[in-house]
Amino acid sequence: MVFFVITGHDVPQPPAVFFHEDEGGKLAPRPQYADLACRVCGKFDELEALSRGVDDKIVIRTKRNIFPSMEDMTIVDRRARAVLESIDGIQLSFFQFPQSPGYHVAVPKLLIQPRSGDQGFRFHPQCKACSRHQQILFGNGLPAIPEGASFGGFGMESRLAMKPILFASEAIAKKLQAITPPLAKLVAQRLPIVPDESCV
Ligand SMILES: [Zn+2]
Repeated sequence: MVFFVITGHDVPQPPAVFFHEDEGGKLAPRPQYADLACRVCGKFDELEALSRGVDDKIVIRTKRNIFPSMEDMTIVDRRARAVLESIDGIQLSFFQFPQSPGYHVAVPKLLIQPRSGDQGFRFHPQCKACSRHQQILFGNGLPAIPEGASFGGFGMESRLAMKPILFASEAIAKKLQAITPPLAKLVAQRLPIVPDESCV
């Protein structure tokens, strides 16, 4: 089966869902999530953080329909949410921005945890305290996707946080691309994605 990664183009100065600049100008977890952070690597349970609510200080200033946060969480506006909810097989949880109520963080209900040995991923070392990987990136092959799954996310890791990168079957990707008027700056990229070494 053919699968696509579904994202939005980057926006200038993307909002950070989980982090802010502390008084010293350093990137730190937002205060309401700080207790969740691993003492060694600083990573925390992103889904637990979202269940506490999105920070009411975040204001979304773009007009895009779908775009990534600084951490590569997917953010959608009202229209993109309505489109996604209208397509059979797409299952997402939505977490609203209190200060910009038209926008939500969209998290796939099916979140695939990359497993070592899967050619679809490359793994950087694990934290000795919490065993999270420093990074999980796309590898050279097609990531393993469970039988029957047509939409979900891969639990990739950046140095900062988990990135639930969305994937969709060809049929779902085609439906998303056929929406009129189109969702602004939607990207559907066929898997496997050839890793760009310069980004590592
Ligand atoms: Zn850790």
